[in-house]
Amino acid sequence: MDDALIRFERPAEGVARLVLNRGPARNAQSVDLLYALDDAFHDALRDDNVRAIILSGDGPDFSAGHDLRKLLTDEPVARFEARGGGAGYGQPGGHAYMAREREMFFDLTRRWRNLAKPTIAQVHGNCIAAGLILAWACDLIVAADNAVFSDPTVAMGVCGVEWFAHPWELGSRKAKELLFTGSSWTAAEAKSFGMVNQVVPPEELADFTLSMASRIAAQPVLAVKLAKEAINGAVDLQGQRAALDMAFSVHQLCHYHNREQFGFEGNPAGMPGLMQKKP
Ligand code: ZN
Repeated sequence: MDDALIRFERPAEGVARLVLNRGPARNAQSVDLLYALDDAFHDALRDDNVRAIILSGDGPDFSAGHDLRKLLTDEPVARFEARGGGAGYGQPGGHAYMAREREMFFDLTRRWRNLAKPTIAQVHGNCIAAGLILAWACDLIVAADNAVFSDPTVAMGVCGVEWFAHPWELGSRKAKELLFTGSSWTAAEAKSFGMVNQVVPPEELADFTLSMASRIAAQPVLAVKLAKEAINGAVDLQGQRAALDMAFSVHQLCHYHNREQFGFEGNPAGMPGLMQKKP
């Protein structure tokens, strides 16, 4: 048994596979898991033998989202060196919580989204809220036909996950429907929105994704790298980068509002659906 939070595998020439290795916890994203994943992406980036990267998850689900049990205990983020804008963790008011979220859920995601190598998310089972963040950060998404996607965070009093790419990933009309109603969507629906590239039976998922990664790994490295850069740059010029920044601030207003409105103790996220209200 490998107890590393991320298993770093080399399933084929030129391909690295990063496996979320918290299967029993449904790959809930603790602080440690996020930094371990950042380390693994960094290792894959710096290894010239790696020309395509797969992100997958062990166990029944790709990822159940943030590890809320850990987040709600104010697990210290400051023990990790800042890799984004991380500063202000000890500040009063909403400052510290916003700083933590910016570092963990936003700046790390942006690093992965802009990683100078092609990435494929290999998704099966549930992909909930921050699970979407991991999938959306990748360039391509291959899903098992049993994959179910959802962002139920509106029911928790926030407007959507921190990496608010919903309008681009789902289209604005569907994004509204799915956020307003808290509905989940299947892999087939995700493909119809353009969010998912390919849908395959679960037993074919790993081989199919690996075959796609191998095809990419056989392409000229610089051309693939610059194709990614050009497409991401085009999306940024369409306004995605600014919209994500704006939505992150709005998301923080939700947390701040909930804390003020409901006055939760020990609940820095201020999530009314998860915590008991103070008498
Ligand atoms: Zn948040």
